[in-house]
Parts: sequence; structure tokens; C-alpha cells
Amino acid sequence: MAPVAGTVVPRFAGASTFVRLPAIEQVARYDIGILGVPFDGGTSFRPGARFGPLAVRTASRNLRPAYHQELALAPFESVQVVDAGDVPVTPFDIEEALGQIHGFAREVVGSGARLVSVGGDHTVALGALRAVSDRHGPVALIHFDAHLDTWDTYFGAPYTHGTVFRRAFEEGLLVPDHSVHIGIRGPLYSGQDLEDDARFGFQIVRASDLEVKELEEVVASVIARVGDVPVYLSVDIDVLDPAFAPGTGTPEMGGLTSRELLRLLRGMDGLPLVAADVVEVAPAYDHAEITALAAATVVFDVVTLMAKAEA
Ligand code: MN
Ligand code: MN
Repeated sequence: MAPVAGTVVPRFAGASTFVRLPAIEQVARYDIGILGVPFDGGTSFRPGARFGPLAVRTASRNLRPAYHQELALAPFESVQVVDAGDVPVTPFDIEEALGQIHGFAREVVGSGARLVSVGGDHTVALGALRAVSDRHGPVALIHFDAHLDTWDTYFGAPYTHGTVFRRAFEEGLLVPDHSVHIGIRGPLYSGQDLEDDARFGFQIVRASDLEVKELEEVVASVIARVGDVPVYLSVDIDVLDPAFAPGTGTPEMGGLTSRELLRLLRGMDGLPLVAADVVEVAPAYDHAEITALAAATVVFDVVTLMAKAEA
């Protein structure tokens, strides 16, 4: 069951699922599940990413999802993709929320399907990573973000959107020395942040590196870094410059263009991508759906990469 064609029902009408895909209860089995995670209780600055899944689904109506020309595939004809709805996540308790996200993500991943979570703030990645690790064991993380997200605590809180990947490392969810951050920039709390990050086995590709390195070279270094380990891809939309993604919680100047991000993502074609997330869309700060459309396009690209891996 593929999305209703935009030539039959106009794209501004019809179901409110991602690109008007079937909802999970409409099919007997599926290969890829898209799960909304409307949680922003781990946000340190601007709140509002709880409205991200809704905004990304709405913006996905802009897409013509039948055929991906750069990846040369009709993803929804080759595999069954569903919109798995939203995790009914509590807004009041971060650890309880993580347990709920873990449980819902485990249902998708446990069925043998690949998971694409749509946040929500970056905290949601930890719940998804726990579920992925239950099924596949530890993974390599390809992390697009302006920020490291490997801080220890924030105001004493261990589970926040800026600490998730340190927790993931401590919980044994990541294969040591196979992970990479891409797009890092901006001031830090301390130089120690970088030393800690290296200790957790991350390599860093800074946004400024893209001024002197060819994108192909970066893609090759990422592919070499992850090796043949199952990959979790995490895309914080603030990896994009605020010119391309103003609607986010912690914007940083000097980021990637949307074209650079898509080129880098499409270079991951062929990697064993078992799960992904696209997070930190906060629509209250967005203009003309720029950020939500960027996120929806990234979700479509990620789904198409996964569909190629299945085919
Ligand atoms: Mn982040
Ligand atoms: Mn960030």
C-alpha cells in the first residue's frame, strides 16, 4: 500500500500521515515505520519541539514522494512504509518519557522493521537507541548536529537533549570508535567537552571543515569510520544554518546549507542503516515551513536510503 498519488487526490487534501502513507493499523506487515515523538521536556533553551511531528507531517505534503530522482528509486513501491503515529509521551517526567519511547520504538524495531523517529527534542534519541540496541546490539552513530550532545549533566539533570550520547555511550549502546559527529560548531562550555567527547569514541567533522574539504571526502571518511557495524543516523535539524532552519531550539550560526546536508545524506547510500531520527524542529520559531520542510525532506531521503537497503 503506497501513499495516495498527488495526481489523484491533491497533496493538500487527504490523510494527515507522513506523505499520506497508510497508518500502521491499515497494513498487516511493514518494512519501515515512521514514529512521531512529541516530547520536548529535555530542551535547554527554546521549547516547542513537541509540535515537531505535527509540523513535519504537514510540511511533508509539499513532497512528491512517488520517485526519488537522486537516489533513483520509488521507495513506496519497493517496500511497505507506514506512519506509526505518535508515542503518547508524558510531558512531565523525562525518565518515564524515555521508557515510553523505548517501548514504542521496540515494537517497531522488534517486528524486524527499520525505525525513523521524528522528534521532539534530541532526548528522544536515547529511547530509540535503547530499542535498537535490544534488537541489533550496539550501533555506529552518524550524528548530524551543531552540538556534541555528550555533556554530562545540565542543572544536575542527567537526561537532557545535550547529554543523550554520553548516556548512550555509558549504557553500551554504541560500538566504541565507530561514531562521528558532523556539523559541529559554536562556542562550548569548556575545552574539556572535546576531550570527553573523544574519550567516548567520537570523531568530529566541523561545519568549518566543509569549507576546505570536498563533500565526497567527508562521505568517504564517514563510511570508513562506521565500517560494517549497523548504523543509527541522528539528524538534529540545527545542523543546518539558521538561514535554512530557523525553527529550532538552539540555533547556531555558520551551519550547513540544505543542499550540503542532502548531498552528505545521499552519500550514505549502501550503509546498513537500521534506524534514524530527525529531531529539534520547533515550529513556533519557523517561517514559511522552511525548517519543517527541510526535516520532511530529510525523512523522505532517509526512508529512501532504507528502502534501497531493503531492496
Ligand atoms: Mn542535538
Ligand atoms: Mn543541536
